[in-house]
Amino acid sequence: LYVEQGLGEGQTIPLTKEQAHYLFGVMRMAVGDPVLLFNGRDGEWRCVVTVANKRNGELVCEAQTKPLQMPPDLWLCFAPIKKARTDFIVEKAAEMGAARIVPVNTDFTNSERIRQDRLQAHAVEAAEQCGGTYVPEVSDLVKLDRLLAEWPEGRQLMFCDEAEVGEQLWLEALPSDRAEGGREAPARRGGSGADRIASDPIPGRDGRPWAILIGPEGGFSEAERARLKALPFAHVVSLGPRILRADTAAVAAMTLWQQSLGD
Ligand code: SAM
Repeated sequence: LYVEQGLGEGQTIPLTKEQAHYLFGVMRMAVGDPVLLFNGRDGEWRCVVTVANKRNGELVCEAQTKPLQMPPDLWLCFAPIKKARTDFIVEKAAEMGAARIVPVNTDFTNSERIRQDRLQAHAVEAAEQCGGTYVPEVSDLVKLDRLLAEWPEGRQLMFCDEAEVGEQLWLEALPSDRAEGGREAPARRGGSGADRIASDPIPGRDGRPWAILIGPEGGFSEAERARLKALPFAHVVSLGPRILRADTAAVAAMTLWQQSLGD
């Protein structure tokens, strides 16, 4: 169960009405029952129910069951599409272990507004269901121009463009040290495997932080394509010969990245 409060030995956790309803009404839990809690920061904790009422309740933390497991340092940047499909993209990005989810307003984006709080709640639910201890932050909608103007140094971008079909495959697009003037890739922190412990997201296998960019239903405009292709940190990538829907493309791109650069 996800909670906002800090978790630590002996910590008392008051429950919201919704949480109390879920635990005691739906799950039929009672005083003395163990519950696993996480907050996206302190790992997973075994807590025990000390107060169980219909509208409120309390738990006390006993012991940590998992440390905080940081995800790969991968951002999923995507142009929001229809509501249900946008929800799907956020959910899948959180399940696939994205470190951050960035909705982007592009020339052909059809939804100018998003409910950031709703999308963040979807990310929490997805992390909950896959037993994760980390919850990716969902940013507010940002214009593509601004995102690129404020791009963090060193972060590589996998720019997914269906116009590239048949021209360049993902593995060919990988920066085999041509990026950053051939400098050695920085060392990967943390190691790999489920037991790694690190305080920051883990760079890709090439030692770099990454981002994926997926366009809206209408794809990218020619001006955007030209701008993106000229960026030294962007690597234009085909996801195969068929034009995928944006939500399919997001999952396909994350899978490719995980397979080649993630763990
Ligand atoms: N009209 C469809 C829809 O309603 O979803 C297709 C949308 S496609 C243009 C949306 C985005 O998915 C593109 O901007 C691109 O980022 C990505 N995409 C889809 N197929 C792709 C492919 N074969 N290669 C690379 N990217 C692709």
